[in-house]
Formats: sequence, structure tokens, C-alpha cells
Amino acid sequence: MDFSLSPELSDLRKRTRAFMDELVLPNEGAIVREDRERRHDTLRGLQGKAKDAGLWTPHLPRDLGGLGLGVMGMCVLFREMGRSPIGARVFNCDAPDQGNMDLLLNSAKPSVRERWLAPLARGEITSAFSMTEPAPGAGADPTNLRTSASRDGDEWVIDGHKWYTTGGGDAAFLIVMARTSEDNKRGASMFVVDRNAPGVEHVRDIAVMSEPLLAHREAELRYRGVRVKDDAVLGEIGDGFHLAQLRLVPARLTHCMRWLGLAERTLQLSREYVATRVSFGKTLAHHQAIQKMIATAATGIHAGNLMTFHCASMLQGGDVKNARAYSSLCKNHVARLLCQTLDDAIQMHGGLGYSDDMPFAQWYRGARAARIADGPDEVHDMVIARDFLLGKLELLV
Ligand SMILES: Cc1cc2nc3c(=O)[nH]c(=O)nc-3n(C[C@H](O)[C@H](O)[C@H](O)COP(=O)(O)OP(=O)(O)OC[C@H]3O[C@@H](n4cnc5c(N)ncnc54)[C@H](O)[C@@H]3O)c2cc1C
Repeated sequence: MDFSLSPELSDLRKRTRAFMDELVLPNEGAIVREDRERRHDTLRGLQGKAKDAGLWTPHLPRDLGGLGLGVMGMCVLFREMGRSPIGARVFNCDAPDQGNMDLLLNSAKPSVRERWLAPLARGEITSAFSMTEPAPGAGADPTNLRTSASRDGDEWVIDGHKWYTTGGGDAAFLIVMARTSEDNKRGASMFVVDRNAPGVEHVRDIAVMSEPLLAHREAELRYRGVRVKDDAVLGEIGDGFHLAQLRLVPARLTHCMRWLGLAERTLQLSREYVATRVSFGKTLAHHQAIQKMIATAATGIHAGNLMTFHCASMLQGGDVKNARAYSSLCKNHVARLLCQTLDDAIQMHGGLGYSDDMPFAQWYRGARAARIADGPDEVHDMVIARDFLLGKLELLV
């Protein structure tokens, strides 16, 4: 087991960190303010600089303008980018676009790749993934899927109601999961749909616990007789549930990478306060209760980092099927870790932590979704326990 990075990766990591420190972190406030006015001048400027610096879309192959990094390399860079909630967007590696790029790369017909993947890779458009529906439709259990796609002549006609399609209001295209038969395993298919196609209605952006930020606006959409041709089908008809797993396993791991970056920055910021604030005759850092919070966060971040690397190594080796339970284990651990680290940072900073003079409260509101989005904790626990009870989960790898 070798934990050292190759010289190339080490250099990329150093350059990404410097880019984040020098250009992204000082501009976080401006990017968020502009986004509220639906302007993106600062973001666009930084995206241009990321391209010039050779740090753009590192997950994509070189012919699409990326660096051809595998999942292990993505771990190293995405952690750095994740130190800011807007970091991944600057390098065009954010969810849901990054996972959607992977899906198009592996499963789209050439005409669809040409039309949507190329501009997405260049950062000219954004995309969305439209699977979840209001009750009684697909949610934690995707087999509740109600949205349907039926055959009419040489077209598919999509009808349904979705919500929590992140970024669906602004996206140029949507990847829509729809029922194409009653078969338990092969009853769902994925379609690439032009967001401006007749019949796609953006009902609203749902007001949620955190403020809207960049492409992370939660759209409610209606599909009313939306027509697509055969080339809009990802993979084959009936591949929907299988493709969802292929997309979601690495996508939830990339979430973990970004969340680790944000947890680490939170802990670094906390270090500054506890090292200087005096209470009852000594700095906070000398109080054991504070040390306990620091140690718990440091241990959790390190453990999450190793879990992420381990699961990434399985994906890099092509073992997506067996990686599933490890990605669940990792997602639950890192999502809870991020929430706890932010909550403890608020506690350690007292009134300052609760105020918007520090970023923790705002980050916490966003982070709380981590325990629900891409499957709630309980469903991941179900997968972990199932595989363990079946004797399929090796813990001492
Ligand atoms: C910020 C955010 C962004 C999202 N982005 C997207 C997106 O881009 N595209 C998309 O398609 N979806 C998206 N989602 C939806 C997300 O994937 C679903 O919210 C999630 O899968 C849960 O489904 P649900 O909300 O319908 O909850 P439900 O299915 O109603 O479940 C409610 C609760 O029931 C419990 N529960 C469910 N099953 C079990 C079980 N087996 N055992 C024990 N308890 C259980 C859990 O506590 C769960 O939270 C997003 C969600 C959020 C919060």
C-alpha cells in the first residue's frame, strides 16, 4: 500500500491549492453576490484562468479538454476544490454536471454527445439530472417511478412530474428517468431532453433550507407530452436503473471528496479562533472539551479521506459493483462528519459562529442536504447492512 502521490499529481495538487488560495477564496463573496443578481462575471473570469492554468475539467479525457485523471486523481484535486462551495464550479467539476458528463461520455449516442457534451465540457451550458418525484413517486426508492415514456411512431413521449432536479431551471438539457415498462429490473430508461423542448415546464425553484447558489437551485418540473427521438435514449431502453447506479456510485464519491475539503477548511478556520480566544484564563485550545471537538473532527476527516481513496481505487480498477456498499459507507460517514464538524465549529466560535460574519452557518445549511441527497442515510445503511449480512462486505481490506 503506497500513499504517496506521483510527481505529476503532487504538482497538480499544489497548483490547484494555490489557485484556490490566491483566486477563488478571495472572490467567494463577489461570486455569491453576483449570482444573487444572476450575473457571473467574476466566475467566468476565474473559469478562463482555470483553463489557462491547465486545471479545467481534470476528470474528462484530453480530447474533451480535460486531464484524463482517473478517480484516484480526482480525489486529490476535488478535495482542494471543495474547500469552497463554489470551487468545483470554477473548474467545471461541480455536481450535477460532472456526473452528467460521465454519463454522456459512456452512454450517449454520438449525435447527443456532439450536441450536449462538447458545450458542457467547455462550460458554456449547465445540465440537470431529473429522477426524483414528489410522493408517491420515485424518491429514496427509485422503483416508485411514475414518470412514463411511451412509444408513438418513431418517438418517445414523456409525461411526468419531478422535483429536486438541481439546476433544472437554468440547464440547457435534462437527463430524465422515466418508466418504459413494468419490469422490476428493466422498467426504467434515461432520456436526454432539451430543457426548451415543447412540454417542459419549469414550475418553480423550491425554497429550501440553504440559499440558492449557482447551479444548485432545486427545480420542480412538469413534462407534458415531451417528444424525443431514439437517439435521446442513454444506453438502451431498460438500462435506467443500471445507469443510475453507474452514475450515482462515482458521483456520491466525488461529493465526499468536496465535502472533505470543506470539512478540512472548517477545522483550519476553527484552529485560528481557538488558538487566540481566551476564556477562564487560558485559550480555548487549552480546554479539554475543545480539544475533544478538534480531535473528533481530525479523526473523522482522516478516516473519510482513507475511505474515499479506498472506494476510488475500486472504481479505478473497474469494480463498480462491489464498490457500491463502500461508496454508501463513505457517503454516510463523510456527510455526517461534515455536518458535525460545521456544527462544532459554530459551537467553538460561540456567537461569532452563529453569525454570518463567519461562513459556518451558511455552509451548514447547504451541508445538511448531504444526508438526504443521492439517497438518505437510512438507505445507505440498508445497503451496508445487507452486504455485510450476506458476507459480501470485507471490512479489514
Ligand atoms: C439538495 C438536494 C438536491 C437534490 N438533487 C437531486 C437531483 O439533482 N436530481 C434528483 O433526481 N434528485 C435530487 N434530490 C433528491 C434526493 O435524491 C431525494 O430527496 C432522496 O433520494 C430521498 O427521496 P425523498 O426526498 O423522496 O424521500 P422519501 O423517499 O420520501 O424518504 C423520506 C425519508 O424516509 C426515510 N427512509 C426512506 N427509505 C427508508 C428505508 N429503506 N429505511 C429507513 N428509512 C427510510 C429516510 O429518512 C428518508 O429521508 C436532491 C435532494 C436534495 C435535498
